[in-house]
Amino acid sequence: MINAIPENAFVAGTYQKILAYVAATALADADIRLNEEVVFFNARHDPQSTLPPMTTIRTRSGTQQTYDEVVLTAPLGWLKRHKYDAFPSDCPLPSRLLQAIDNISYSRLEKVYITFPMAFWQQDTVSAASHSEDSPNSRLSSSSASSAKSSTSTYPSFTHFSTPNYAPHPPDIAWNQTLVNLAALPDTNSHPTLLFYLYGPCATHLVNLLKDIPVSTSPSSPYHQTLRTFFEPYYSRLPNYDILSPSCTPSAFLATNWQLDPFAGNGAYTNIQVGLENGDRDIEVMREGVGEDRRLWLAGEHTAPFIALGTTTGGYWSGEGVARRIVKLYDALEVSEEVVAARERDREEMKKEVLSVEERDVANANANANGLAL
Ligand SMILES: Cc1cc2nc3c(=O)[nH]c(=O)nc-3n(C[C@H](O)[C@H](O)[C@H](O)COP(=O)(O)OP(=O)(O)OC[C@H]3O[C@@H](n4cnc5c(N)ncnc54)[C@H](O)[C@@H]3O)c2cc1C
Repeated sequence: MINAIPENAFVAGTYQKILAYVAATALADADIRLNEEVVFFNARHDPQSTLPPMTTIRTRSGTQQTYDEVVLTAPLGWLKRHKYDAFPSDCPLPSRLLQAIDNISYSRLEKVYITFPMAFWQQDTVSAASHSEDSPNSRLSSSSASSAKSSTSTYPSFTHFSTPNYAPHPPDIAWNQTLVNLAALPDTNSHPTLLFYLYGPCATHLVNLLKDIPVSTSPSSPYHQTLRTFFEPYYSRLPNYDILSPSCTPSAFLATNWQLDPFAGNGAYTNIQVGLENGDRDIEVMREGVGEDRRLWLAGEHTAPFIALGTTTGGYWSGEGVARRIVKLYDALEVSEEVVAARERDREEMKKEVLSVEERDVANANANANGLAL
């Protein structure tokens, strides 16, 4: 029998190398401006104009730039919050696009890393596994993800706590948790660390518990104590746990709070919620964006091919999809010399406008210093 389910790879070494490979061309050839929050997209549709449309963007510091094509990859959560204020009020986004942005929901997945002095739950390696900041726990190399599948003495890679009645929680909210055992990763990527995934209202509950508490590595800190109280009911159920053993006492916690991060769209990624109708059409409408009319294209995981919505692969594919459409449009346009000359004149005008904005910013340095949000 042919195995129809393809392998779902775990990228043990993080996306770092993949990203470096994917970004190489842009890093070498593009003018990249980091730490610039775009707050306004002046993308208009003027059916009377003989010139192709252009889009002017404005950053929080007040700088304006005009481009032939703009690809907006801010997350769906960002679009939900800024679908009106980031676009001209006299030329808003089309109502069907606004409706699509509202219809598809945005998830609340968070991660919490809990590191121990050793991976006590790894029965066969418990005595060998010790953690060092400089060199991840290479002595756990025998417990690679693949060997974990076949070895009966190695704790598995994934654990689900499906009905944790032993953990205090509101009765009406699902509190099930998933953890990934990072000690089961191969070779130098293995750590004596448990990675918990929290979602929905439970994730919001934890983010709110932590939101006013400073992040700290000190075991006596409120940050450490709050997370320890929350997660002890779970990790205390793993094999070999001994409440009196220092090996079973967390040495560090780290929790994400993407729900509070506007650049993450205050959440995680596209969620196809129960009860949604015609969601496929909503995704298609977002994928279509307003590129052909207004030169403002939408990309990002929320506009990906259906199979890859909510994934890094989907985000990448969506960018390729938009690039292909832009190239096709230019092939079809065959921009005439007259149009090119008119654009050049427009650009010169625009440069003067940008200069005047920059002069104003120099005169108002305080506004600039407070403005950069990334
Ligand atoms: C807990 C968790 C686990 C996940 N696990 C997986 C997994 O195992 N596999 C997988 O494939 N995917 C996973 N994902 C999903 C994956 O991370 C996303 O689908 C992917 O990052 C989306 O890429 P993107 O480019 O669309 O958006 P993002 O990665 O969110 O990038 C958007 C960028 O826009 C920038 N930005 C936002 N607003 C502005 C603005 N106004 N001006 C300028 N810049 C702005 C942000 O700073 C950010 O850099 C996970 C996500 C979470 C939260």
